[in-house]
Amino acid sequence: MLDIFRKRRMWRKTQELKDHYDVVIIGGGSHGLATAYYLARDHGVTDVCILEKSYIGSGAAGRNTTILRSNYKTPEGARFYDASVKLYEGLSAELNFNLLFSQEGHLTLAHTDRAMFVMTERAEVNRLQGIDSKVIGPDEVARLAPAMSLEPDAVHPVMGALYHPPGGIIRHDAVVWGLARGADRGGAEIHPYREVAGIERDNGRATGVTLADGRRIGAGHVVSATAGWSSTIAGMAGLELPITTHILQAMVTEPLKPLLDIVIVSSQMHVYISQTDRGEFLIGAEIEPWTTYRQQGTLNFIQEASRHTLELFPQLERARILRSWAGLCDISPDYSPILGETEVDGFSVSAGWGTYGFKAAPIVGRTMAELVATGKTPELIQPFALERFYRDRLVSELGAAAVSH
Ligand SMILES: Cc1cc2nc3c(=O)[nH]c(=O)nc-3n(C[C@H](O)[C@H](O)[C@H](O)COP(=O)(O)OP(=O)(O)OC[C@H]3O[C@@H](n4cnc5c(N)ncnc54)[C@H](O)[C@@H]3O)c2cc1C
Repeated sequence: MLDIFRKRRMWRKTQELKDHYDVVIIGGGSHGLATAYYLARDHGVTDVCILEKSYIGSGAAGRNTTILRSNYKTPEGARFYDASVKLYEGLSAELNFNLLFSQEGHLTLAHTDRAMFVMTERAEVNRLQGIDSKVIGPDEVARLAPAMSLEPDAVHPVMGALYHPPGGIIRHDAVVWGLARGADRGGAEIHPYREVAGIERDNGRATGVTLADGRRIGAGHVVSATAGWSSTIAGMAGLELPITTHILQAMVTEPLKPLLDIVIVSSQMHVYISQTDRGEFLIGAEIEPWTTYRQQGTLNFIQEASRHTLELFPQLERARILRSWAGLCDISPDYSPILGETEVDGFSVSAGWGTYGFKAAPIVGRTMAELVATGKTPELIQPFALERFYRDRLVSELGAAAVSH
């Protein structure tokens, strides 16, 4: 109790920016902060600065619906996200910061024979990677989510589900603050309200960045971890990424008594639902089809997501919506990330995270740190290289990543 009113800084006060760093990371979201954290932890690289145009966690890291899982459709994807969930499992203890990770399980509902077939295929791929994932019938669904309506004559009857016990939810702000504190303690400098406006190149190599106020910062290596803004940043380095930026929206109800302790996803109903520790029902949908950088929500989303939520949870009929919001998502053509080196030497990207990148933050941090420190691309992320689009080696996660976060 003694410590409760003591003012303690989470990380050091913002320092004077230096003219040069070994590594400059653009973007103070979960991926940028994780990269800085693992650079110090695993490789002793501490001359690192994170440049963030707004406050830490102002992007998708602070707006997401906090779902972690690894039951992806491709072996490459499943392996990669599984490594991330495993890192998350140890992260609270490692950062000495409670990230409120509840591995309460994750259900992807199947409403048709075709969906049951796809779930069965996914469960097979998952199990071959050692991931706990199986197809279950309506009775088991009813046992896991007793408050959910399972009427056989519903518009979208539940025929079964893909059940993934290690999936769950984690507190997104805590992840951002824990990683920021870890990165700061490792020696990295965090510079909020510093917008990058250009990337300097010399002889095909990135040599630094220019800030919006005109200041130049030299760098041995520049990492872009700018998610929704990735294509604009890559454009500054003369690179064209196959990415379009869309908004994804979410909303929460007022706090209600505990009714649901598992994540529910329905791709066909375009809705996913969980209940937070505070009792709020957290509801999301799929991306909006138009491209934009304007993080503004729509009434249509609230109407449609409410309608589908009520089909599954009619008892929420009188629940009031507390707030709704939107964030940016950088969608790649195969719904897999674009990760690693680019054709500009010394310029690496963590991009193409669409609606599912938060769960990847620790493994992105660890693998990007290894790449920057050693110059070698870790095996785990080799399938996600930008050049796969030139070599026709896509890693299609369309069936497992569109609405399922
Ligand atoms: C509503 C919503 C729900 C989601 N739900 C989930 C989910 O349940 N599970 C999941 O795994 N994923 C989810 N996602 C996706 C996930 O949040 C993102 O893929 C992930 O957060 C992206 O990585 P990041 O945290 O590093 O990005 P961000 O937090 O977006 O970080 C990028 C940062 O770059 C900064 N930046 C941009 N341009 C510049 C510049 N020029 N100079 C300096 N800084 C710059 C931005 O301000 C931003 O802070 C969701 C996303 C949204 C919007």
